Amino acid sequence: MDGLRTALITALLALAVLAPAAEARSPLDQSQRIAAQAYTPPCPISVQTDGLDSYSNFAEFHPANCQVRLRSEWTEWTREELCLIVVHEYGHSVLGPAHAHEGVMAEDPKKFAPCNRLGAIERKLSRVRAAQRSAHKRRLRTRERRLGATARRLQRQLTA
Ligand SMILES: [Zn+2]
Repeated sequence: MDGLRTALITALLALAVLAPAAEARSPLDQSQRIAAQAYTPPCPISVQTDGLDSYSNFAEFHPANCQVRLRSEWTEWTREELCLIVVHEYGHSVLGPAHAHEGVMAEDPKKFAPCNRLGAIERKLSRVRAAQRSAHKRRLRTRERRLGATARRLQRQLTA
C-alpha cells in the first residue's frame, strides 16, 4: 500500500509541474494588453502609477517620455474603469491630445468593448460572491459550494 501511495504522490507532483495554473494577469497588465490591441502606440509606453501633475484628471498621456500617468487612487478602480482609462490614454498616444465631440474617442466603441466585457464579468462575480456570503450565513453548504465554483470560474475569466 505504501508503494501505491508513493506512486500516486509522485504522479500528482509530476502533474503539478507539467500543468501549472494559468497565470492570472494583474489588472494593469490586462488593461495595457487590451489597450495595445486597440491602439498601436508609436513608442513603448510605460505606465507610472504614483500620481499626476493635475488633480482634475484620472490619467494623462505624456508624449515627451511616452508615459501614461495614473492617479495614485487607481488601485480603487474596477478592472473595467482601469481598462477604459488605459485604452483612452493609449488612444492619445496615437490620436493626439484632442477629444471627439461625442465623448472621449467615442468614434470607435469597439476599442472599449473588451473593457466592457471585463465589467460584465466583474458585476456577475460580485453578485455571485454576495449570494455565496448569504448562503454561508444561512448555512446552505451545497449552494455555497456551487456558488464558490462559479466564483472561481468567473475569477479565472476575469484574469485570463
Ligand atoms: Zn483624454
